[in-house]
Amino acid sequence: MTEVAVLGATGSVGRQALQVIAACPDLKVRSLAAGSRAAEFTHLVRQWRPVYAAMADPAALRAVEAACADLPTRFLAGEAGLCELAADPGAGVVLAAMVGSAGLAPVLAAARHGKRIALANKEALVTGGALVTRTVREGGATLLPVDSEHSAIWQCLWGEAPASVTGLTLTASGGPFRGWDKARLESVTPAQALAHPSWRMGPKITVDSATLMNKGLEVIEAHWLFALPPQAIEVVVHPQSIIHSLVTFADGSVKAQLGWPDMRLPIQLALTWPRRLPSPVAPIDLAAVGRLDFARPDKEAFPCLDLAYRALAIGPGAPAVLNAANEIAVAAFLKGALPFAGIGRLNSAVLEGCGAMEADTLAQVLEADAAGRRRAQELLSIYAGGPPL
Ligand code: NAD
Ligand code: MG
Repeated sequence: MTEVAVLGATGSVGRQALQVIAACPDLKVRSLAAGSRAAEFTHLVRQWRPVYAAMADPAALRAVEAACADLPTRFLAGEAGLCELAADPGAGVVLAAMVGSAGLAPVLAAARHGKRIALANKEALVTGGALVTRTVREGGATLLPVDSEHSAIWQCLWGEAPASVTGLTLTASGGPFRGWDKARLESVTPAQALAHPSWRMGPKITVDSATLMNKGLEVIEAHWLFALPPQAIEVVVHPQSIIHSLVTFADGSVKAQLGWPDMRLPIQLALTWPRRLPSPVAPIDLAAVGRLDFARPDKEAFPCLDLAYRALAIGPGAPAVLNAANEIAVAAFLKGALPFAGIGRLNSAVLEGCGAMEADTLAQVLEADAAGRRRAQELLSIYAGGPPL
């Protein structure tokens, strides 16, 4: 029986993880954590009766605690609370499914304590890749990818010698605006960007999928997870989202992993690894799929993909700066304060202005993150006053 700490329990990945746990007799909820939505979290705590429950927002946690006073659950507040839950010796696996760079500190706490970390929160690796992978190594922890592309690559690598790998290919659905040109993308609304053709996900990653920033973040994530240089990682658009990613080997052979676009598969595999257990997801029916299409990404209409490669080239702190700018840009777009195409322009302007920054320690990563946020806010206020971003 594996006890799971579910961080980001109210989110899209978190809720699907709870479905997986409910359906799998070998898995059990140990603890739950979320950001700030008290009513939803109260409901989950009452349903799952975890040993520990934590919320990033202390006021929200107090409301949940008051509503669950009859339960034996112990409540922990703030980032420190999430870190405590990530380090809990009773947790066999820590699922990091919170959104944004807020995931970094709890992931580091789990890494320091030698945990098995089922990692959905790609922003932790994007912002603190060197720090996280080093802490995982030193702490004797294990990173198990949940992101579907990285889960696919991980599965293709089982039994293979690392030196025989020559390249990774991440597939991208292309999002709702595949085939749109630059001019047409200018007038995209939040409602349009939130309607993803093949995946149901939280709002931030859905917008990231529409700009292809998500694929850029995934290139950085793959770089750290699989220790390959950026030039060995390519992206191909595959609208059906059936092939989740591919690995190329020295002899020219290519391995792929296929499945319906259903996150419960990679979530379950990360939670039950090294075992593959039955799941509620049916195997793929190739004849029903009919065809699989592939195309090169349109880097001009979707500049965010190249920004990720650019950030890796600029140096250690630049991915954290880019990620921070993007978190601000996506929030501004969703509020109607920035046009869709402005996300790429803002991200690019912040990245090009950041200069070389270190990212070896947590303080340095947080400094790069703060610098990116500050500069993005400055540019946004300039935009609000006039010239278009
Ligand atoms: P979501 O917005 O649906 O859920 C986010 C979760 O994070 C919520 O539980 C929220 O309460 C919590 N949270 C927000 N702020 C927090 C904070 N400051 N501290 C702690 N918790 C906080 O997001 P999602 O779609 O489930 O995505 C979660 C992560 O998984 C992201 O990093 C995303 O890139 C990655 N991911 C998601 C999918 C997917 O299908 N949804 C697929 C691959 C990767
Ligand atoms: Mg993905």
